Amino acid sequence: MTTSNGAPLERSSGARAGSDFPLVFETSQPGRRAWSLPEAGDSSPALEDVIPAAHRRRDPPALPEVSERDLVRHYTRLSQRNWAIDVGAYPLGSCTMKYNPKISEEAASLPGFSGLHPLSDESLTPGALELLGVLEEALCEATGMSKLTFQPAAGATGELTGLLIMRAFHRSHGEERKRVIIPDSAHGTNPASVSLAGFQAHEVRSDERGLVDLNALRDALDADVAGLMLTNPNTLGLFERDIEKIAEAMHEVGGLLYYDGANFNSIVGVVRPGDMGFDIVHLNLHKTFATPHGGGGPGSGPLAVSERLARFLPAPVLGWDEGAERWFWDEDRPDSIGRIHSFHGNFGINVRAYCYLRSLGPQGLRRVAERAVLNANYLRVLVRESFPTVYEGTCMHEFVATAKPLRKHGVRGMDVAKRLIDLGYHPPTVYFPLVVEEALMVEPTETESRETIDGLAAALNQIAEEAATDPDLLHAAPVTTPVARPDEARAARDLKVRWTP
Ligand SMILES: *Cc1c(COP(=O)(O)O)cnc(C)c1O
Repeated sequence: MTTSNGAPLERSSGARAGSDFPLVFETSQPGRRAWSLPEAGDSSPALEDVIPAAHRRRDPPALPEVSERDLVRHYTRLSQRNWAIDVGAYPLGSCTMKYNPKISEEAASLPGFSGLHPLSDESLTPGALELLGVLEEALCEATGMSKLTFQPAAGATGELTGLLIMRAFHRSHGEERKRVIIPDSAHGTNPASVSLAGFQAHEVRSDERGLVDLNALRDALDADVAGLMLTNPNTLGLFERDIEKIAEAMHEVGGLLYYDGANFNSIVGVVRPGDMGFDIVHLNLHKTFATPHGGGGPGSGPLAVSERLARFLPAPVLGWDEGAERWFWDEDRPDSIGRIHSFHGNFGINVRAYCYLRSLGPQGLRRVAERAVLNANYLRVLVRESFPTVYEGTCMHEFVATAKPLRKHGVRGMDVAKRLIDLGYHPPTVYFPLVVEEALMVEPTETESRETIDGLAAALNQIAEEAATDPDLLHAAPVTTPVARPDEARAARDLKVRWTP
């Protein structure tokens, strides 16, 4: 394919010949339109009266001119080049790519919600405020916390917010603590957020169980430690068994405990971070509570805190006016760390979460966690001959297996992942966490059926056999996709998103 001046048009590297279709710009025909309406009558205002000439562009933008039919076909074909949770299983470890019920989408699309302006007066939006109020109460109940903010737009923003609150708490005692403890099995955003908040990350190693080494933790503790960030279950999919001892040791030196609740689907309705001794919890509504995750869409990472930290939350927070019996935005927060997002966060995500909670109820939520853990363990056992786990015992909602046994055939974790695409499944996370060689991190999620998990297990076991009998098949995979093995670093750093005629 070439541009109109004959130069080759660069696509992402690794594109296959023959599977391409033209860019929408290349199908453009002058004057072609997607739809036409009859001329408006005389009563409509002239353009000049609506937008003054000084603010209007002189030349029309160089947009593609296509019919509706070609437009629909173009974007439908584009969408089919991607894998999606609505197409099939997406067992990506760490990130919970589960099926999201469409009823939550419908609720969020109700015009009363989707058309709401963030500056609307409180007297006009009691329903929206009540939705947030009830959702806040439910999420505080589920986490064992007392108050939360919906401002953080993602898990990582929740982390930053929590760390800023940690600093405000210590400062309120006249202390300037510098270090935050993070286990080596933590999610990558944890140390990044610690640096961003101006703390130093102090890494504590895991022991042979894949859990926090209690002695190493105790050695790291002193009065300079602001707190500990813990992902539980950790990124190995293991529940920290010594959590009460960890909390006790931390509280002894006056530090706070931060719970990375991105993987809340593994414990929701079963245990509560507040009961384990945590003071700060973020949730990823876009992983656990029915919002599609990934693709750069909006997220919501509410941050919940215990009572002693509530006064530091970003303002405004939701208040309940006892006399008037209504929710309101409480702006009078002198100890607040300040805003972390414009307006009230990503409201539509909260509507989805509300709908999800309401449709499941407390019992249903508990079944979410039970299913998530059951599905992961079922799959783990079905594939353990081919892909053993490094750490013993049952896992929580995900497990980390290793493709190391296939190395003797010259096959690597990436080859397994790529071959899985040809067999109709999204690959698991590969090469993470770093503490496991040839890591395959798998989360089947609670939403997949037994049949799907059986199919996934059969595919993985087939790949292990193919590694021995036909390793080149794995090296060549995937053969069924428009793009095979792009140079990932280049694709991310050297992205070409602009087309110039
Ligand atoms: C996904 C995830 C995060 C980060 O959440 P984002 O919404 O992507 O910022 C943090 N911690 C863990 C354990 C996660 O899985």
